[in-house]
Amino acid sequence: MNSEREAVIDLAAIRHNVHRLRQVAAPAKVMAVVKANGYGHGAVPVARAALDAGATWLGVAHIDEGLELRAAGIDAPVVAWLHTPASDFESAVDAGLDLGVSGWELDQIAEAARKLARPARVHLKIDTGLGRNGCPPQLWENFIGQAVAYQEEGLMRVVGIFSHLAVADETERPETDDQVDRFREAVAVAEDAGVDVEVRHLANSPGILSRPDTHFDVVRAGVSMYGLSPFDDQTSTDLGLRPAMTLRTMIAHCKDVPAAHGVSYGFKYRTAAATTLGLVPLGYGDGIPRIATGGPVAVDGRRYPVVGRIAMDQMVIDLEREGIAATDESVLGRPAVLFGPGDEGEASVDEWAAAAGTINYEIVTRISPRVPRRYVDGV
Ligand SMILES: *Cc1c(COP(=O)(O)O)cnc(C)c1O
Repeated sequence: MNSEREAVIDLAAIRHNVHRLRQVAAPAKVMAVVKANGYGHGAVPVARAALDAGATWLGVAHIDEGLELRAAGIDAPVVAWLHTPASDFESAVDAGLDLGVSGWELDQIAEAARKLARPARVHLKIDTGLGRNGCPPQLWENFIGQAVAYQEEGLMRVVGIFSHLAVADETERPETDDQVDRFREAVAVAEDAGVDVEVRHLANSPGILSRPDTHFDVVRAGVSMYGLSPFDDQTSTDLGLRPAMTLRTMIAHCKDVPAAHGVSYGFKYRTAAATTLGLVPLGYGDGIPRIATGGPVAVDGRRYPVVGRIAMDQMVIDLEREGIAATDESVLGRPAVLFGPGDEGEASVDEWAAAAGTINYEIVTRISPRVPRRYVDGV
């Protein structure tokens, strides 16, 4: 029961969040974004849970990530949207993956489709302002024309038009309005060119939760499906979401030390008084950012900030009680919970993100393969 270290993934929480997002997005459908191993939660189990809960699309960045879903027997529509000239478009078309396309990929995909004698399913991506992937507006008409030509040749089917939002997590910013306007214009150009657009998709989690005008036909839910808030000023609870990942371990050593004892590399911390230290066997090798000193670890329902440097394998908490190592109060072997939904008094992912100067997305996504995932269905 009490495992050495594990990321416990609650699939009931994933399903709850998908239901919640479906409700918010309706009548738009939900695409469950499971790139980067499902933001660290495990792509295949999360994809299955999301589909069970009524998500109808899956989204990934890389073709390889889509192929992993297919290899697991998942046959729902999957869109993969980030490619390089070395991407294996042939395997993608062969596996029936939908491909997000920003420009140069079109010819390579058409070539793959020709070879396989199977039309590729593509979603054309317009850059409405983000400045990353996507076709810039001045090339859009030409790009659409090329895609339509390939479609008429029977080499592809233009299934979707999509774009990605840049600042929707900051709900006051006006640039999202501009992005929505440009997106509508791009869709109009495609329709004028004779494209029968099945799905228009623009919204990410912040768009889903704060901007109904970004919903269109399908919304792409990432961080919110994992139960985390995309906003600085709203918690998971505020949004009706349940964090799906709990990161836990057990105390590996408990010992009494005198006042002014140094802790961990560089002696960045010295004990203020005689105290007891607890050793937490997780570190940056497990994906905990080294910079996150001060991050809270819950032991027996009480939270202790990490003191001193976080190392590759371990970090230390100061129990602020003197001389308990050899007593019944010793915490050796006690569960230590870094973050989770809060059921055991543990911190949120957001608090660890604050300690690390980053966002909740990064904290969960970086939990390394060294930490075994354990799947539960409610608790
Ligand atoms: C990662 C990603 C998403 C999901 O974003 P969240 O903010 O996690 O919901 C949606 N669309 C694209 C194109 C992405 O790359």
